[in-house]
Amino acid sequence: MTVGVVGGGQLGRMLALAGYPLGVDFLFLDPSRDAPAAKVAPVVHGAFTDAQLLDWLARECEVLTFDWENISVEALREHAAGRSARICPPIAALAAAQDRVSEKRLFERLGIPTTRWRAVGSPSQLARALDEIGLPGVLKTRRMGYDGKGQMRARTREEAHRAFESLGDVPLIYEEWVPFDCEVSIIGARSTRGETVIYPMSGNVHADGILRLTRAPFGPLRWQRTAARHLTRCLEHFRYAGVLAVEFFVRKGRLIANEMAPRVHNSGHWTIEGCATSQFENHLRAILGLPLGRTRALGHSAMINLIGEIPPRARLLACEGLHLHDYGKQARPGRKVGHCTLVEDSAAKRDRLTRRLLATLAPAVRIPPAP
Ligand code: AMP
Repeated sequence: MTVGVVGGGQLGRMLALAGYPLGVDFLFLDPSRDAPAAKVAPVVHGAFTDAQLLDWLARECEVLTFDWENISVEALREHAAGRSARICPPIAALAAAQDRVSEKRLFERLGIPTTRWRAVGSPSQLARALDEIGLPGVLKTRRMGYDGKGQMRARTREEAHRAFESLGDVPLIYEEWVPFDCEVSIIGARSTRGETVIYPMSGNVHADGILRLTRAPFGPLRWQRTAARHLTRCLEHFRYAGVLAVEFFVRKGRLIANEMAPRVHNSGHWTIEGCATSQFENHLRAILGLPLGRTRALGHSAMINLIGEIPPRARLLACEGLHLHDYGKQARPGRKVGHCTLVEDSAAKRDRLTRRLLATLAPAVRIPPAP
């Protein structure tokens, strides 16, 4: 059984590592010669839009999936759909997640509370959006934004217009700024047979738009139930197959959807050691039509992203119980190069160890108190 993966980043690499014990083989497509997946699986090098390579991948594999959502929907539709491989998750979910306006409309259609927003394509539309939504806010590119890229906060009208100028001549969205109490995400999988499983909620801390820390399970049962209901609506809407993540702001106990990701998600990396079945394994089971694995948490987990460079290995591994994941990437400021996970039997112990680790790995990141 061969799974084709468009994109050979760290998510693809962890997918392959989860798939080998199940007897699954992989073929990746990635433009980069040093794609993280290349160390563990065969990678064909070429553009994500390469018609011949997509066509070839779709013929060689049972199923085609992706580890990055900023790939071309048109190229997938034109060159991969209708070949022998199925494409999972569905292209419609990928298309919705690629455009922040489609994503907002989807949330609204499904009755999922989201931030107030307006599409912005000109200075006059921005002026109207500022009148209707108010300040502070955030101006984001509708497409291709990730890890805080392509977005600027606006506290004043002048700042908003400056942000408009510097984000360039691309379609934008203006959103109200949510003074959230915390950020959470929920991850679930739906299989091609319609079976669904949902993971315990993750509590996330971002800095400069990049995820730094995830703790799980997180938050009261009421949040878990609400988030799971919203996620299930998305899964059923698309007759989804694979793993889907939805991120929320929490403000005064209310969940407000920020965005969704039609793929395995950074806030789910803790499931590798912290859950009965990892998100990577369940993504594969889901797209291959296999029974899904249990999503029960095995303890209290914390996942810390390693940004820029991997600290000395010996120092990290001296922390008892720490699991290290080095993605094999070149060091570069702001780049996710690895992560580490702790699984402890109490939330208090997990937080104590996490605080100690953060003091050396990311001194600016603070652990907010548990809700
Ligand atoms: P995004 O790319 O939309 O996930 O944004 C990255 C991060 O920026 C989020 O996880 C938040 O920490 C912050 N952020 C984005 N949009 C908003 C907003 N409307 N209100 C408050 N914080 C935001």
